[in-house]
Amino acid sequence: MITCVEENTMDNIIYLDYAATTPVLQCARDEANRYMTMFYNPSAAYDGAKIVRDAIEEARATIAECIGADPEEIYFTSGATEGNNIIIQGVQKLSPFADFITSEIEHHAVLNLRQDNSYMLHVDSNGLVNPHDLVGALAEGDLVSVMMVNNEIGTIQPIKEISKITNKANAFFHSDITQAVGHIPVNCHELGFDFATASGHKFGAPKGVGFIYIRKGIKLPPLVYGGGQELGLRSGTENTSGIMAMAAALKWATNNMAQNLKRMEKIQRFFINELEKSGFNYSFNHTFTNHYVGNFNICFTGYRAEEIVEFLSSNNIYVSSGSACNTDSGEPSHVLLAIGLTKEQAESSIRVSISNITTEKDITMLVHTLAVYFALRGDVT
Ligand code: PMP
Repeated sequence: MITCVEENTMDNIIYLDYAATTPVLQCARDEANRYMTMFYNPSAAYDGAKIVRDAIEEARATIAECIGADPEEIYFTSGATEGNNIIIQGVQKLSPFADFITSEIEHHAVLNLRQDNSYMLHVDSNGLVNPHDLVGALAEGDLVSVMMVNNEIGTIQPIKEISKITNKANAFFHSDITQAVGHIPVNCHELGFDFATASGHKFGAPKGVGFIYIRKGIKLPPLVYGGGQELGLRSGTENTSGIMAMAAALKWATNNMAQNLKRMEKIQRFFINELEKSGFNYSFNHTFTNHYVGNFNICFTGYRAEEIVEFLSSNNIYVSSGSACNTDSGEPSHVLLAIGLTKEQAESSIRVSISNITTEKDITMLVHTLAVYFALRGDVT
C-alpha cells in the first residue's frame, strides 16, 4: 500500500489552477528518486536492468488496474499531446480515407490534427455533445474523438452513449481522458474506448510522462521509429523515474478518489455560496450537472479576465484566464465561444480549478481579493 501525504510547498501561494497542472505528490517524488538512483537502462541485459524492467511492467499493471484495462493495453508516452498524436495520426495512417469526427471543444492536441476529411460535433450551451448527431453518420474505420472531461469548463461527456454508437458502426472511439484520470472513475473496458490518452502531471506525477490505452487487438503504426520500445509503438529509452512516479500518483489518486471528491464537493458548495452572497455581477459558464466538481468557469461581465488574473496573481492567488496552454495566443477561448459566449464574455471569464487540498480559507481569500479588485475598479459590491 502506497501512503502518500500531499505536501503543499507553495508557501504563501493560493493555487487554484489544478486543471493546468498539479503539485507532485510525495509518493511520486519518492518513486522518481528511487529510479533516478536505480538508473539502469531497462533494455540492458544485466540484473540491475532487469529489476528496472520488471518495475516498469509493475507500473503498467498498476495503471491498467486503476483505469479498468489490461496491462498490455497501456503504452507509456511523454504526455497527452504525444498520446493524442500517436493515436489520431496512427488511425489516419491506418485508414487514410476514413472520416475524423471530433468535438469543437477538444484540446488543441486533438483539434490541430483535423484534416480535410474531418467533421466537428457541435456542443450545447453546457458544452455537451449530442451522441445522436453520430447516428447514421459513421462508416467503418472512422475515428470519433471526444474528451471525457473538458479542461476549461469541466463538462463530462456522455461517453458510454458515444461508444455504443461508434462500436455499432465499427468506427473507432478515442477519448482524451487527461482531465478525468485520477479525478473521476474511469473504466476503459466498461466505457468502451478503443483508445484513450492521459498525462501524469494532471494527477500528481511530474510533467513529461503520460500513457495511452489501446484496446487489445488494435495495432497502430508508430509516429517515431527507433529501438522498438513499447512494442515498437513508441521507441525511445523509457522515462523510468517518470513512469514509476506516475503509477504511484495514480494509485494514490484512485485509492483516495471517493474521499477527495467528497472534500471537493464541500468546497464547491462553499464557493457557490460565497459568490451568491458576494453581490458580484457574475455567471457560471456551465451548470453543475454532468460536470467535474473541481472546475469553475466564471464570467465577470464588463471586466477583463487577464486583468483579474494579474490582480489575483499580485496577491499570490493563481487562477487562469482560459486553459494554460492558450494563454499566449491572445485569442478568446474556442471552448467558451463554442458554448455560445460572445468574444467579450469569453474575455471576461476566469477558470478556478480546485483539488482535495483546497480549503474554505483559500476560497474566502479568493472572494475577498475579487471584492477588493471590483472596489478598486469603482464597483462597490
Ligand atoms: N488534453 C487535455 C484535455 C489537457 O487538459 C491537456 C493539458 N492541458 C492536454 C491534452 C495536453 O497535455 P500535455 O501538455 O501534458 O501533453
